Parts: sequence; structure tokens; C-alpha cells
Amino acid sequence: MTRDVDLLITGGTVVTMDEERRLLPSGWVAISGNRIVAVGSGDAPDSVWRPKRRIDATGMVVMPGLVSCHGHACNSLVRGMAEDRPLHEWLTEVLWPAMSHAGPDEVYRGALLSAVEMLRSGVTCFADMWTEVPSTARAVEQVGLRALLAYNLRDFGDPEKTTVELGRAVRAWRECDGTGDGRVRVGLGPHSIYACTAGMLGRARELATEHGLLLQIHVSETRREFEQSVEQHGVSPIAYLERMGFLGPDVIAAHVVWLGDGDLETLKQREVSVAHCVASNLKLGSGIASVRDYRNAGVAVGVGTDGPASNNSLDILADLKIAALLHKGVGRVPKEMPAADVVAMATADGASVLGLGDELGRLAPGRLADLILVDATGAHFTPFHPHDPNQVYAHLVYSAKSTDVRTVVVDGRIRMLDGAFVGLDEKAIIEGAQRASSRILVAAGLLPASGH
Ligand SMILES: [Zn+2]
Repeated sequence: MTRDVDLLITGGTVVTMDEERRLLPSGWVAISGNRIVAVGSGDAPDSVWRPKRRIDATGMVVMPGLVSCHGHACNSLVRGMAEDRPLHEWLTEVLWPAMSHAGPDEVYRGALLSAVEMLRSGVTCFADMWTEVPSTARAVEQVGLRALLAYNLRDFGDPEKTTVELGRAVRAWRECDGTGDGRVRVGLGPHSIYACTAGMLGRARELATEHGLLLQIHVSETRREFEQSVEQHGVSPIAYLERMGFLGPDVIAAHVVWLGDGDLETLKQREVSVAHCVASNLKLGSGIASVRDYRNAGVAVGVGTDGPASNNSLDILADLKIAALLHKGVGRVPKEMPAADVVAMATADGASVLGLGDELGRLAPGRLADLILVDATGAHFTPFHPHDPNQVYAHLVYSAKSTDVRTVVVDGRIRMLDGAFVGLDEKAIIEGAQRASSRILVAAGLLPASGH
């Protein structure tokens, strides 16, 4: 009996990232609506499948779309403007002052630019933290990505701000959650323990529990944050959050570079997920997260690009290579962080971190159809031996470049086909972001008014 499907992708090396990490040297993926119907190896028999559309993936790796677990998309407007500084200076002297001039339109333009960059880099789902959630949601809808947008809560000790910001967060959630055909989910993003009062953190925890929202927070990013916490609260940032009952399986902790005694045990016990932002941590000189220890302890770890102003790129494949090399080198243990595990951090594990472990991150029947085709024919990808899984994973971590991502499918829809966007004017998006960036940087006094 033949079965109608919307899309059939054939002839590629299918890296499923499923429970058994099956790799199908000549495989196919059948998609109906926004779900994967079947995955198989060998020829997809015409007697079984009658697709509306076919994609020939010969010479390609077919794999789950990449997941970035932490970032600030609209910060692309400030890319390259705050260099060679530690986090605190970077935030208070450049990023926050510049972005305070970004209204809804500028945030939209910046998020749109990042969404396009992510699409080109094979990122199909990302976690974001910013205040103008509707603007970012609009960009996500337009580009066709999937996202978890956390309303960025900050009150800096001002109780009036606590109430106002929490009200805005709830409105953003009501307005945007479930938009983009369900691809946009909204959560809460209390910025950090140094930008939020205990009252705000406590209220965010209550709201998250009441409405089933995910919480994203920067935790123990710098030594300064760690030492300040010990000074002000008598304990590490993680112990402080634990003491107030904030931590739980719905918490995505970004960075987690500095740990105190017992903190790892707390993360494990509370089933907190970690977004490892390796490039950002290195660039801001924040330090190196003990990701090998987290993984060995069974803590879920995904990779986050962080914002484009602290990376300065959203190319998550580049970050995977940095992560693998760094942790092998620092630990002097070449066996650690095997390539297949590193790929998992940006696929199946990343999906789990974002609470989508049952829906995303693996190519398997019933899963959402988010997948990418990566060209395996370039000089830097050669030799390519699809019957050797270790080599395929190694190529994806160490040799692949974002420009190898040729085709991107999100929610069953083709958003990029052989390097060309479907229904998006990339040039206009880039020009719009360029103008928005000039506007806010001039307004903040970071660029001269003339010549822009
Ligand atoms: Zn961040």
C-alpha cells in the first residue's frame, strides 16, 4: 500500500542521533505535515511512499537541526562594539547603554538578522533572553525558526520595577506563547542574581510553577558574580538559588563556570540543565565551565552561542569545535568529549535542555521535522566514509563549516534549499539591521552621528 507524504529526503547519510545513535549510510527520511513519519536505510521504495516533494540528499549528511540553548538574538546590533572587556564592563558600559536605545523595531531588526544567521548555520531552535519578546517572536515567525523566548527580568533592587517587569513578562507570555504555529514558546528569564532582587527571583519561580513556564538565568558566569554572592549572601550563586527554592528541572542555567562545594550535587539533585556558552566564556575571560564533570554527573548540558555581541557569531558548529578541543586540552584527556557526544550536545541533549527532549533533536518517527542537510563533498570533508560513524561525527565537529549547511527544514517546511532562502529577502534584512544598528549606536554615543 502506498502512503502519501509531503516530503521525502533520499540518498543521504542519515545521522539519526536516536537512542541507539543509528547512522544510515544511505538513508531516507519521510515527512508528513510537521512530523517525521519514518526513517530508513537503502532505497525508499516507490511502492511505499508517494511524496509531494523530494529532496535528493546525495553527498549530504542529513541530521537533526541544531539547538542553541542560550542567547540574545537582538544583540547582533552591537556585534564587535564591545571588545576585550570583562563581562561587567561589557554589560554596563556598552551593551546595556546601547540596547537601551533599541525600541521594538530595532529589536525586531536585530533578531531578524540573527535568525537569518542561525538559519544559515543550521540552528533550527534557539533559546533567547530579552525584554521585547513580541519583536523577537515576530522575527522567529518570519524566518520560520523554533524558539524559547524568555522575558528578561531585571529590577536592580527597585521593588517598583519588580512589579512592572513581572507584569510585562506575563503579558508577553499571553501575547506570544504558541505563536508561529506553536514554534514560539515564552518563558521567564530573570537575568541573574546580581540584576534581580530575591523578591523578583521568588516571584519568577512562583509564576513558572503556576503556569508551567521554563526559567532561564545566567548563573555563576564570572568570579566576580561568585565572590559577590559569597560576600552578600554568604554562599555561592547556586547555593543562594537553592536556598530560596528557585532551582528545579524547569531551570536552564546559562554558563555555570564557577562552582562552590556541593554545587554540582545540587545541580544534579534539582535536575537543573546547563547551557554551555563556551565561546562567550572564553571571549569575556569568564573562565572554563567544568562540562566534563557536569556530563559525568548526569547533568543535562547543551551548547549556547550566547548573544552575537559576546561570541561574536551564531555559528554553533564553530562552538562545538571549540568545546571539544578546549575540554580535551584543559583536561589533558583526549578521550573526553568524543565527537558523537559533542554532536548530541547540539541536538538531542540540547532539545532536552529546552524541555523538548521528546519532540526534537533526533530523526525518528513521530518527532518534529526539524533537520538540516550538510554538504559532505568539500575538500575539507574528504575523505568521507559514511560506514564509519566515528569519522562522520568527527567531520561534523572538527571539519564542517556553517557554509556546508545547504538545506534547512523546520516544522516540516523547507526554509533554505541548497543555500537559498525560501520567501526571505536576506539582503533587505541585512540592510535593515545595519541601519538599526547605526541608529542605536549613534544615540548611545558609541558612533559619531555623521557618516551613518
Ligand atoms: Zn546571556
